[in-house]
Amino acid sequence: MTDHDHGDSGILHGFATRAIHAGQAFDPTTGAVIPPVHFSTTYAQDGIGNLRGGYEYARGGNPTRDALQAQLASLEGGSFAYSFASGLAAEDALLRAVLRPGDHVLMGNDVYGGTHRLVRRIFGDWQIGLTTIELGDLEATGAALTGLRPRVLWLETPSNPLMKITDITALAEAAHAVGALVVVDNTFATPYLQQPLVLGADVVVHSTTKYLGGHSDVLGGAVVTNDAELAEAVAFHQFAAGAVSGPMDAWLTTRGIKTLAVRMDRHTANAQAIAESVLGHSAVARVHYPGLPSHPGHELAARQMRGFGGMLSLELAGGAAAARRFAESLQVFSLAESLGGVESLVNYPSEMTHASVRGTDLEVSDAVVRLSVGIEDVADLLADVRQALVRLV
Ligand SMILES: *Cc1c(COP(=O)(O)O)cnc(C)c1O
Repeated sequence: MTDHDHGDSGILHGFATRAIHAGQAFDPTTGAVIPPVHFSTTYAQDGIGNLRGGYEYARGGNPTRDALQAQLASLEGGSFAYSFASGLAAEDALLRAVLRPGDHVLMGNDVYGGTHRLVRRIFGDWQIGLTTIELGDLEATGAALTGLRPRVLWLETPSNPLMKITDITALAEAAHAVGALVVVDNTFATPYLQQPLVLGADVVVHSTTKYLGGHSDVLGGAVVTNDAELAEAVAFHQFAAGAVSGPMDAWLTTRGIKTLAVRMDRHTANAQAIAESVLGHSAVARVHYPGLPSHPGHELAARQMRGFGGMLSLELAGGAAAARRFAESLQVFSLAESLGGVESLVNYPSEMTHASVRGTDLEVSDAVVRLSVGIEDVADLLADVRQALVRLV
C-alpha cells in the first residue's frame, strides 16, 4: 500500500475515498483543489542537475501522470503503478520487462484478442512460445504449468465475451509452485469489484480506456505491482521505450476514476436486471452473466468479487442471423466496439472485437452478442432489449 491510502489519522480509507483523493492533493502554490494539468515537456533546473521536484523531461516523469499512477496503485492495493498510452502499450512494456527469448507464456483461451495477437505475432518473432488453455480446468492447467514451465501465466476474469470466471488464488498458487509470474488483466472487473494482488497475483494490467476512464473518450493502460524489482524493470521500459500516457490523457483518466465506485454499482445493477429479464426468453439460448445463479462461475465470482460487473453476453437461439438482427435493432445501445463507458454498447464479437482471433482457440460463436451495459435508466435499457428481441420471434 502507498502512503496515499492513509489519512492524517493513519487509518486506511475506503475505496471511494481513495479513488477521489489518492495522488490528488491540492496544488501547493495556488491552492487549486484540482491540480493543474502539466503540459510542459521540460523543467528548469536551479543549477546543473539541481531539480525542483525531481522532474527533468516529460518522458521520464510528469506530475499529472504521477498523480494518476498514485491513484491506480492505491486502488489496486499495489505499491507501484505505471501508466501507458494504451492497454496494449502497458502489456507490451510488461512483457518486454519480463520475457527473454526462449521463454513461454501460458494464457487463458479466452483472453482479450489483442493480447493473444501481441504475444503470438510480435513476441513470437522474438522466440517467445505461447500456449492457450481452459483455465477453468485446474488439473489440465497444473499439468501444463509443470510441463511447460512458463515464465508468465496470463489470465482475465471475468473473460471476454463469455464471462467465464477463473480462480485467481488457486491459479496463483499453482503457477508460483513452478516459478511463473501471474498476470491478471483486471479491465472487466476493475479494482472496485476485484483486487487480484490481494488474491495472490503478481501483476495487474488494465486497459484504462474502459471502466477506469469510463467515458469512452481517452485511451490508456496501466501496470500495477507490489514487486519492487519488477516495478523497476517496467519503469525502465516506460522511460526507455517511451509509450507513456500524455498529460491530458492521464488527467482525463484520473477524473474518470473518481466516480468509478458509483458507476460500477449502477453498471452492475443494470446488467443484473437485463440478464434476469432475458433469461428464459424464447429467442435467447443462453445468458452469460456471473450474477445469475445458473452461471457456472457464480459462486466463485461471489467469493472473489464485490459485485458481478456490467458486461454480459447473449447467445441467440436463431444463430448468426438472429444475433446480427438483434445487435442492429437496439436503439439506446450503440453498435460499437469497446466497453466500460457510461453509455450502453452492443458488440458482435465474431466480426468486431474478436475478428482477429477467428480460426484460433479464441474464436467466438457467431450466435453471441456482447452488451456493455451503461448507467442509463434501467427501464429504457430493458425496453430497448425487449423491442429488439420481439423482432426475432
Ligand atoms: C481493450 C482491452 C485491452 C487493450 O487495451 P487498449 O487500451 O485498447 O490498448 C486489453 N484487455 C482488455 C480486457 C480489453 O478490454
